Amino acid sequence: MTAEAPVLELRALRTEFRAGGAWHAAVRDVSLQVGRNETLAVVGESGSGKSVTALSVLRLLPGAGARHGGGQVLLDGQDLTALSEKQMSRLRGEAIAMIFQEPMTSLNPTMTVGDQIAEAIRLHRKLSWKEARRLALEVLEEVKIPAAARRFDDYPHQFSGGMRQRVMIAMALACKPRVLLADEPTTALDVTIQAQILNLLSELKAAHGMAVLFITHNLGVVAQIADRVAVMYAGEVVETADVQTLFARPTHPYTEALLRAMPRVDADSQVLDSIPGGVPAITAMPAGCAFAPRCRLKEARCEARRPDLTDIGPGHQVRCVVRAEPYKDKA
Ligand code: ADP
Ligand code: MG
Repeated sequence: MTAEAPVLELRALRTEFRAGGAWHAAVRDVSLQVGRNETLAVVGESGSGKSVTALSVLRLLPGAGARHGGGQVLLDGQDLTALSEKQMSRLRGEAIAMIFQEPMTSLNPTMTVGDQIAEAIRLHRKLSWKEARRLALEVLEEVKIPAAARRFDDYPHQFSGGMRQRVMIAMALACKPRVLLADEPTTALDVTIQAQILNLLSELKAAHGMAVLFITHNLGVVAQIADRVAVMYAGEVVETADVQTLFARPTHPYTEALLRAMPRVDADSQVLDSIPGGVPAITAMPAGCAFAPRCRLKEARCEARRPDLTDIGPGHQVRCVVRAEPYKDKA
């Protein structure tokens, strides 16, 4: 981790959904930090709370059925949870941009790619249409769309999957955000295209000094893109470490299981063959450790009390009473 203050910091973030007349947490006590020019990968099975975490940062969850349940989202020290909706909408796409797995959720099919990027720029900057179009072309070139000038007036459906993903990245970068949230942006792509997009994102992160929060269920992708990793399970961070440490010394039994089940980069399986069962529903969270029902190290104390996230090395933390035990005395 860098000594600089983080660009994006989540402090004990909690997000709840209403189900069956009660509120249930989908994200619980999540604390994360991402610095300038750093990629933090958030990894975990489907249903572990990755997308809800990212959507909570941007406050994009459905108003009626979702609520902020506590904690802070700090952007360069400013708490976004305290902003008005108007202030928040100014930040979205400007200071913090997000890209998704499916480009068509962000792209307008009825508008040429050049015009929609120019429009995104004009939403946040007072520029002439001509100037915005010039900047839009620049950013399409930056994401390496071949013959960008010629393709400027094409529609999204005229692009291949990989090229559409580049257009969406261009759109996200158009206002030079400080933070990029990427939610499984390469999952739908074949392995070669995926590797190209991951390389492009790494280059752009360095070129712009962006803080990137990269969500994936695939540890192969984590190995390619991450500086640091947070492993999520059932709405909690269960282990966090720099990428080398995570692969060399995985410590939470869930991280170990993820590694044993590590899909090849070209596989898109979201199931863990090595451990049966699945992530508990938010309405059926176990009282103690959420992973206990699937854990081969389970002891009685695991089910009695929810474990804390414990320091076990430099920048390395784990939420497991059994595995943190040897480190407790040294603290
Ligand atoms: P991930 O992105 O890690 O696959 P999500 O963040 O989408 O997981 O979901 C975390 C949990 O929150 C899941 O149990 C999911 O069912 C629940 N959830 C997500 N969105 C909603 C919603 N709009 N209403 C109710 N529950 C939701
Ligand atoms: Mg998701």
